[in-house]
Amino acid sequence: MAKLPKTTGPGKKKRKPKKSSERYKKYKISGIKAERTAKFCPRCGPGIFLAESKDRLFCGRCHYTEFK
Ligand SMILES: [Zn+2]
Repeated sequence: MAKLPKTTGPGKKKRKPKKSSERYKKYKISGIKAERTAKFCPRCGPGIFLAESKDRLFCGRCHYTEFK
């Protein structure tokens, strides 16, 4: 019987780097146009803008209203 040389090397696995082509940030806007000069809602805290109307500021989240 002849000995058959077996080559049992460690299986090499090539890792393919995943390309993340879809890179986009999600912005949470509470439906109301937030302007630069808009104030933050004192109730909801920073991040929630107050919508500006004629003579008042309005929060679309907690319905806080602030008169000018
Ligand atoms: Zn609010």
